[in-house]
Parts: sequence; structure tokens; C-alpha cells
Amino acid sequence: MIRKGLDYLRNIREHQPVTYYEGEVVKDVTEHPAFKIPVNTVASYYDLHWREEYKDLRVYNRDVGEETSVTLVRPKSKEELQRLGEGLIKIYDYYRGYFGRSPDYMNLWTMVFYAHAEDYFGKHFGSRFMENAVEVYKESTKRDHFYTHAIVAPMYDRSRPPSQWEDPFIQIGVTEERPEGVVVRGAAMICTAGPYAEMLWYLPNMRRDSDPKYAIYFSIPTDTKGVRFIARRGFQPREGGEFEYPISSRLDEGDAILVLDNVLVPWDRIIFYRKPELIEDLMWHTVSLRGWFNWHFMIQHYSRLKFLAGLAMTVTEAAGTSSFINVQEKIGEILLYVALNEAAFYGSIARAQELPNIVRPDPYMSISASHFNMKAVPRANEILRLITAGASIPIPAGAKDFTNPEERAYLEKYMAMKGLDALERAKTFNLLWDVIGSEAGMRYEQYDRFSRGDPTIRWAQTYTEVFRDRKEQFVKLVKEILDQMPNPKA
Ligand SMILES: Cc1cc2nc3c(=O)[nH]c(=O)nc-3n(C[C@H](O)[C@H](O)[C@H](O)COP(=O)(O)OP(=O)(O)OC[C@H]3O[C@@H](n4cnc5c(N)ncnc54)[C@H](O)[C@@H]3O)c2cc1C
Repeated sequence: MIRKGLDYLRNIREHQPVTYYEGEVVKDVTEHPAFKIPVNTVASYYDLHWREEYKDLRVYNRDVGEETSVTLVRPKSKEELQRLGEGLIKIYDYYRGYFGRSPDYMNLWTMVFYAHAEDYFGKHFGSRFMENAVEVYKESTKRDHFYTHAIVAPMYDRSRPPSQWEDPFIQIGVTEERPEGVVVRGAAMICTAGPYAEMLWYLPNMRRDSDPKYAIYFSIPTDTKGVRFIARRGFQPREGGEFEYPISSRLDEGDAILVLDNVLVPWDRIIFYRKPELIEDLMWHTVSLRGWFNWHFMIQHYSRLKFLAGLAMTVTEAAGTSSFINVQEKIGEILLYVALNEAAFYGSIARAQELPNIVRPDPYMSISASHFNMKAVPRANEILRLITAGASIPIPAGAKDFTNPEERAYLEKYMAMKGLDALERAKTFNLLWDVIGSEAGMRYEQYDRFSRGDPTIRWAQTYTEVFRDRKEQFVKLVKEILDQMPNPKA
């Protein structure tokens, strides 16, 4: 089934998680100023599926015998993988590359877990967990719920593993096993969308600590007893602020800390349990989760880079600076990033790995492009700052300045640009500021750098992990020449 925006709004109102905001528990997340923007954007995601120009997002899903979002359909050929990828591009072009924690993101994870229910979860954890992976997928296709996810332990002390912290249950861990399930306690650092999501995937990164009490993946409703979110303040503009803040007022997400206060997780919601050593196989090999989620990130940022390139062209052509070689070089740099992402997207499909249970994008290209974008997207923002210089500062203060005839006359004379009248210029540069300077813009830049981990560690992993099995191939190219070089005798 594919829901409509109204179905989501109704359901989240009825099954709202407990969220603390400025000392109070949020009463109605759909009306709260800090959340109603992302709530409406999520609703628009569901409605998108029903718009004529987006009808390709609705696909017959042979695994469940009904139409679902393409983002829940398991690709079994390169053509189907391309259909999925192009569906995601359509969604992220709509978001202009923002709003990366939209329902499609976790749909992809749930679908991938389902595809590997047998050869990974069943093989390592037995038939019970295999069935859980299947049932969670079926439930997702039937209810079309919005999932958030949380992975990372709070930053209490990164110099020691969480099991050595003064309280080993700051990181979420299992405190008790019961016949009906396990009890978990602890917190996770950032859980974007938690306050307005209906379901939660909790899936820790076990590299920081391989203590088995932390080794658990599960899915539960966000209104389960003991689930709490502590939200960051909203970056929403004041009422009517769409003129001043076109991104913040449409595409700001909500971030929160997730707290699990002795939450009972039923056995049938768990898919991974107490075998931390199996995480490497899930991340890099059998399931290739890292390949999949970086593919999704690559697509988000491909859409963003196209938007940033368009913005760079719009502002510099209006100001007459696009004729300068140094400005052209910088816009060219953003366009190079666009082209490289486009190449990685289509390359990842051309070289897809065709397994019996799923066809998946080439992980070298997906991971490398996504890791590259951790630096390329902030660099594109930096370029926008450099090429707009002082004009980036959003003057006048707001829409009301245009309602005063005396002031408007000055604005029209002195704030216009060769290519834009004063009103168009104010709108364009307000958009620019919301990308490069506002709170929402800066939060996105932090997300672009850190959302899939720290860039230093990820770039290093490109060498130590991603390309590890191709090392010989590259080193041989050097060794062959070294072997052919003469060895002079003393
Ligand atoms: C806006 C935003 C939204 C996010 N949303 C979500 C979400 O919805 N769900 C989710 O699961 N995650 C989310 N994340 C990601 C997550 O919460 C972390 O921020 C991310 O994984 C990076 O980890 P960290 O912040 O713990 O940084 P760390 O990895 O701890 O890095 C902090 C600093 O310490 C250094 N460092 C740390 N460890 C080492 C080491 N071993 N060796 C050398 N240097 C080291 C790093 O280089 C870095 O400079 C989000 C992040 C952001 C910014």
C-alpha cells in the first residue's frame, strides 16, 4: 500500500512519541512550530507518489503482490535497480538534495534486510530472526510507515569504549532477557526525525565496542513505552518567513537524542543479536549495507550539487561576475562534482552486483562517491560564499521592506542587479543565505560532513577497507616496472 500525506498526519497524531522540547512534552507534533515544517514535508513525500509526474514511484511489488513505493521494491535486475535509483533522484530533486532522512531512506534498509533474510539473518541467527526480517518488511509494505534510525552512542568519552565508561549503559545495551523479549537502556546521539517518525530502527555501530550487550538490531514503534526524544531547537523562521528563509521554511529536519528508558523489545522485533563479530559481514560483504546506504547518500548529494550549481549560475549571472575566469573556474568545480556523481550513479548500476536474491549497486563507486561528497558539498557551499562575497548578506531585512513605498523606491534603485530587479534579487539572495549562512544551512553542512561518520575516518577507510581487495591489482602496476629496472652491481 502507498499512503497519502493525510494518512501519515492522522497516524502520527494518534501515535506520537514522547518528545521533550524546552522542558515540556510536545502535545501535537503536527502543530508544534519546531516540527510542523518537517511533518508537512514528510506528508508531501507520501503525496508525491500520487502526483501524475511522479507516478513512476508507484510500482507493483511482486514480493507482496501489491503496489508499493519503488523505494520498497527489491531490485532483481539492473533495470529494476536503475528504476529504483531514478525514483530516488526524482524524490531528491524535489527536495533539492535536502531532507535526507525522508521515509525512503529507511525503506531501503528494510528492503535490503528482507533480501538477506535467509543468507544472512537466517544463516547466522536462525529461522526466528530470519522471519523477523521478513515480517518487518511485510509490515512496512502494508503500512507504509515512516522510520527513523539511530546508531551512534552519545559523545561521553570517545577515548574509551562505552563498556568502560562510568555507566556502561550510556550506550544502548541489553540489561535483561525475558521470555517476551529483551530490556534495553541507554541513548543514541542524533536521531533525525525521531519526534515525527512512527517507527524506529536501532542499529548500533559495533566497531567502537564489541561487547555483546550492545550487539542488537531491532525495530519498534516510536510510541513504545520508555522511548523518549530530547529535541534540538527548531530553526523555523518566524510566521510568514518563507520570503526570508525558503529552505528553513520548507526543508528543515528535526534532530533529537534518543533515550531508551528500560524499553521492552519483543523477540519478534529483533533481527541481530549478541554476535558483534558478524557486523563486518553485514556492513561490507553479504548484506553490503555500507554500499547501499552510501548509494542513497550519493543520490541525495547528486541532487544537491545540481541545485548548488544552478544557484551559483543564477547569482553570478545576475551580478555580472560570471564573466570572470576565477568565478567560472569555481562554478566549473561544482559542475565537475555533478558530473562525477552522475558517472558514479550510472557506473554503479552498469557494474551492479547481480546476486540471486538482489541486484545491488557497485559498492566501490557508491562508497567512494559518498565519501568524496563529504568534502565536495561543503566545498560547493564555500564556493558560493566566495563568488558572492558581500552580496551574500541578506539585505533588506524581509518582505515587509517592500511594503513601504519610500523604502521600496530606494531598494529598486540600489538593491537591483543588472540581471534582477530588487524583489527578485532579495528572493534569490535570501535563498542563497539560507543555504550558506542560516542555522538550517549550517546544520545541513554539518550533516553533509558527518552524517555517515567522521570524514577523516571514512576517507582513511577508502584505503584500509573499500579498496583493500584491489590493492594487489594497483601495486602490481608499480612492481612490474620495478622488476624491469636494472639492478646495477657494486
Ligand atoms: C545533522 C546530523 C544529523 C544526523 N542524523 C543521524 C541520524 O538520524 N541517525 C544516526 O544514526 N546518525 C545521525 N548522524 C550521525 C551521527 O550522529 C554522528 O554524528 C556521526 O556518525 C559522526 O560520529 P560522531 O559525531 O560521534 O563523531 P566522532 O566519530 O566521534 O568524531 C569526532 C571527532 O573525533 C575524531 N575521532 C573520533 N574517533 C577517532 C579515532 N578512533 N581516531 C581518530 N580520530 C577520531 C574524529 O576525526 C572527529 O574529528 C547525524 C549527524 C549530523 C551532524
